Amino acid sequence: MSFEDLNLHPAIIKAINDLGYTTPTPIQQQAIPQLIQGHDVMASAQTGTGKTAAFMLPALHRIATPTKVHGRGPRILVLTPTRELALQVSDAASKYGKYLPRIKVVSILGGMSYVLQNKLLSQNVDILVATPGRLIDHIQRGRIDFSRLEMLVLDEADRMLDMGFVQDVESIASATPSSRQTLLFSATLDSTIDKIAARLLKSPKRIQVASQRTKLENIEQRLHYVDDLSHKNRLLDHLLRDQSLKQAIVFTATKRDADELADDLAAQGHGAEALHGDMSQRERTRTLTKLRNGRLRILVATDVAARGIDIADITHVINFDLPKFAEDYVHRIGRTGRAGASGVAVSFASGKDSISLKRIERFMGQRITPSVIPGMEPKFKPRIGQNEGKTQKVPHVVHKRNRSWASNEKNSFNHADSNRNHPHKFERSTGNDGKKRSFRRPGQLNSGIYAESSN
Ligand code: AMP
Repeated sequence: MSFEDLNLHPAIIKAINDLGYTTPTPIQQQAIPQLIQGHDVMASAQTGTGKTAAFMLPALHRIATPTKVHGRGPRILVLTPTRELALQVSDAASKYGKYLPRIKVVSILGGMSYVLQNKLLSQNVDILVATPGRLIDHIQRGRIDFSRLEMLVLDEADRMLDMGFVQDVESIASATPSSRQTLLFSATLDSTIDKIAARLLKSPKRIQVASQRTKLENIEQRLHYVDDLSHKNRLLDHLLRDQSLKQAIVFTATKRDADELADDLAAQGHGAEALHGDMSQRERTRTLTKLRNGRLRILVATDVAARGIDIADITHVINFDLPKFAEDYVHRIGRTGRAGASGVAVSFASGKDSISLKRIERFMGQRITPSVIPGMEPKFKPRIGQNEGKTQKVPHVVHKRNRSWASNEKNSFNHADSNRNHPHKFERSTGNDGKKRSFRRPGQLNSGIYAESSN
């Protein structure tokens, strides 16, 4: 099947040709015809499968025909869980729509100036890409006219639910015309997603693309058992000195750890910077731009960077701390091996991580091969049957490191625990009504993910 077979507007096909896309990906082949016919669609598709184009191309195809409805408000609304993903979607819209006359794409994200956003919203908007919390604020201030809205896209719906945005998403949907076409994309389609789909979608077509496992074949996954924080630090230092590592993302469990580890690595000359949800949008964009154009080698990030970043030169992903949710492992390691390249994903795990590790392996449907660097073997004995992996034939290089917070290993080793004493009930003003909403999901009080809310 070719893009021409999909009956997309010629201006869209032209933009796709410019980008060098020759064949639609499986999710595009399945979703685009249904969407062009006007059906609601719920699709399980992970980042990296071409899902953005799967919804953006039909969205652009729709707005290539002028609407008869008067107004300035958006005709397409895309909701995303994070600012990074929103920016990526906006970029995609501009790229795919570049030959369509006067397509106006606007992003409304938390952490950015209201003054600028008010100005953007007062003009004609075709495609609005937003994180839910900030959009709700604008809706409540009466700044958005949804009378022209034709299509609502919930991108990474599972993630939005995990982040506690379910009420916001439903409120936003209820502010849009019921005649809209609704699309839901999620890593997995489980019963929670089914429930929200039943409320927001009309007789949706269900689309499932090949499992993530096949897609990750170009990523070599390795596991290093670790004894303690200083062992992790030595292994990390060793890995970062590997010449084959062009660029890497190192994932930590908390924002503070990301900052501290980035500082420590930078102090050792590694060219590292942090990225997390406490940084202003401007800082985040600046850091990502540096990463994108190769001026930053190591990004130390929380799960805010687990999705959406698409940079071909990221050769390594290092899970300094394992993710809290198994599914985030897939998103994290998917930052490498982009655009058909091969990638390496290394995870550190201690005895305390055995449950998380099991969950990840169950989710992936495969074991992660344990590796040992000569001279840096763990004293800790992993569970039986897990230590049969290959030994890395790499020179033994131990570089002494001196991390301020490494001194109290007992307290700081398991970073995932460092949120444990906080109530994690996030409250914030919702604008004019002065009421506060809390973003708390039962059973997930300790999730670091809440700390990454885009709002
Ligand atoms: P996504 O899953 O939307 O994050 O897309 C992953 C990457 O695939 C992006 O870099 C897209 O530019 C690229 N892509 C999307 N569709 C195609 C296609 N049909 N052919 C080649 N690359 C594509």
